[in-house]
Amino acid sequence: MADSVSPDYRFCPRCGDPLGTRVRGGLPRPSCERCGFVHFRNPAVGVAVVVIDKDGRVLLGRRSAGGNVGEWCIPCGYVEWGEDIREAARREFSEETGLEVQIGEVCAVHSNFHNAASLTVGVWFYATIVGGTAAASDDLDRVGWFAPEDPPEPLAFPTDRLVLGDLASKRVTT
Ligand SMILES: [Zn+2]
Repeated sequence: MADSVSPDYRFCPRCGDPLGTRVRGGLPRPSCERCGFVHFRNPAVGVAVVVIDKDGRVLLGRRSAGGNVGEWCIPCGYVEWGEDIREAARREFSEETGLEVQIGEVCAVHSNFHNAASLTVGVWFYATIVGGTAAASDDLDRVGWFAPEDPPEPLAFPTDRLVLGDLASKRVTT
């Protein structure tokens, strides 16, 4: 956890003074001597939605914005400040696929370290379709159903590969 000090922040966002560094909670943190502001660098929370059809295929999308353009992922996004995590999952899936879903149980939880400048904790939820028509929009330009053991390449995120592998192994054993 040597990167608790972001190199991006040099001035206090509250008062504008140059930030120093102080140890808080066992790690060095950018801190403001003048007003007491401390920058705690924490991962953002991401949500992804796993919808499985009657043949055991998973709905995946090809990314057209937000990094990893042209690569495939389980439809996902960030939880907004003040937003319930399940509402975020429902909203992101609707925005990106045109499908309305009811969010179900947690499928998987993983820390994402693939982008060192933007660490996240991802929560993958199972969901069932309750309305709408599948059509890529927002940050996706294609959506499609794929067997979890044979996903389209390249996949954008290593943790999606983990989740798909787990889904494939469950599919074989059940
Ligand atoms: Zn300050």
